[in-house]
Amino acid sequence: MATPRHEPVRTCVGCRGEAGKPGLIRIVRRAAGGAEIDSTGSAAGRGAYLHADTTCVDLARKRKALDRALRTTIQPELWSELSPSPRRGEGRGEGDPQHP
Ligand SMILES: [Zn+2]
Repeated sequence: MATPRHEPVRTCVGCRGEAGKPGLIRIVRRAAGGAEIDSTGSAAGRGAYLHADTTCVDLARKRKALDRALRTTIQPELWSELSPSPRRGEGRGEGDPQHP
């Protein structure tokens, strides 16, 4: 029989999909304003979740979903942390990891 466990449902603010498994990034609001990635997953404060997926990060950014969820203004630095530009480090000869 089903045990009524109190498992919080986490909703990705990007795609609005429910998620309960790892793969989510927790963003927590900073007291001083702005927000930061909560790598421990247990930082105090208002938090929001995002899939560790550039699509979701992008959606949240465009919709300002994260700003609204945390009621703060997300600083640009956080967005670049969340979705590192894939174009970064185009320098050649820098350890090309087994291209197809
Ligand atoms: Zn998502």
